[in-house]
Amino acid sequence: MPENLHEDHTEIRDGVRALCAQFPDEYHRKVDAEGGYPEEFVEALSREGWLAALIPEEYGGSGLGLTEASVIMEEINRAGGNSGACHGQMYNMNTLVRHGSEEQRRRYLPRIAAGELRLQSMGVTEPTTGTDTTKIKTTAVKKGDRYAISGQKVWISRVHHSDLMILLARTTPLAEVSRKADGLSIFLVDIREALQNGMSARPIPNMVNHETNELFFDNLEIPQENLIGEEGKGFRYILTGLNAERALIAAECIGDGYWFTDRVTKYVSEGGLRAAHRAEPRRPVPDRRGLHRDRGGEPDAVQGLRAL
Ligand SMILES: Cc1cc2nc3c(=O)[nH]c(=O)nc-3n(C[C@H](O)[C@H](O)[C@H](O)COP(=O)(O)OP(=O)(O)OC[C@H]3O[C@@H](n4cnc5c(N)ncnc54)[C@H](O)[C@@H]3O)c2cc1C
Repeated sequence: MPENLHEDHTEIRDGVRALCAQFPDEYHRKVDAEGGYPEEFVEALSREGWLAALIPEEYGGSGLGLTEASVIMEEINRAGGNSGACHGQMYNMNTLVRHGSEEQRRRYLPRIAAGELRLQSMGVTEPTTGTDTTKIKTTAVKKGDRYAISGQKVWISRVHHSDLMILLARTTPLAEVSRKADGLSIFLVDIREALQNGMSARPIPNMVNHETNELFFDNLEIPQENLIGEEGKGFRYILTGLNAERALIAAECIGDGYWFTDRVTKYVSEGGLRAAHRAEPRRPVPDRRGLHRDRGGEPDAVQGLRAL
């Protein structure tokens, strides 16, 4: 485990913590109770450039790497925020930065970096094909200089809080490709336009206040210039975003780990357990060993995970 684990990325951690301090528990609790979206929080993160971490400097971002982006997400959750409201902006960026054309990068990245546009949504999962992505049934059929999209997606998050979405669709039928990962393509969909022209969204109620939807595509036409990279190579491209997503979400979970241990440590040290026991003597006393801290002052288990 590195010696300087507590000092690393201090500047980023301090910056994110200072911003998060402006949004106390009451703010996040209110958003949650109202089933709302942390609009002001996400706007502040965008304004200060934290969500543009992965955008190269030449397009107005900070040109940082995935490690730094993970630190940002970890700190948001450690402060009691929920990165799930905005982490799509980070991992989708990787797909556009790496595989988008120069024209696409110039057209979208500076506006995303400036907080004028949000690219927070990614449409991959379908009702009959979750993990088995190469079997997706949504198709994109070329018609002149446009593609017509038909099919269905499920669990597609942040559609109503995003301007753009990255969409995976099959451009060559599975039966006609030699490798099942071939024949899939990714497109940049302008959500506002699409909702008027062949795409509809039905929200999925859930217990964690996460904006997620079923999407239906009925011949949604999108211009061919919205194809990202080469037609048929979308599966490889989408992995760029998904791999980043996995790393970022792991960092968020580590942030959650710190949040929980910080809170429970405070509760115990302020006599919360004793008070709870007095109020309800027959209730079993929780095991406190999980709170063991090493010499560095960090909970062992969470620190170990972060080192990974
Ligand atoms: C809150 C929420 C938000 C989401 N947001 C998005 C989003 O924005 N965009 C998007 O595209 N998707 C999104 N998803 C979908 C998510 O990515 C999928 O749920 C995930 O890909 C798994 O698909 P599935 O639910 O159909 O599960 P399944 O594919 O049915 O898998 C269920 C379980 O079975 C296991 N399994 C599957 N196949 C095999 C096998 N062959 N052998 C052994 N084990 C197997 C899996 O590992 C898993 O544990 C979201 C989901 C949730 C719950």
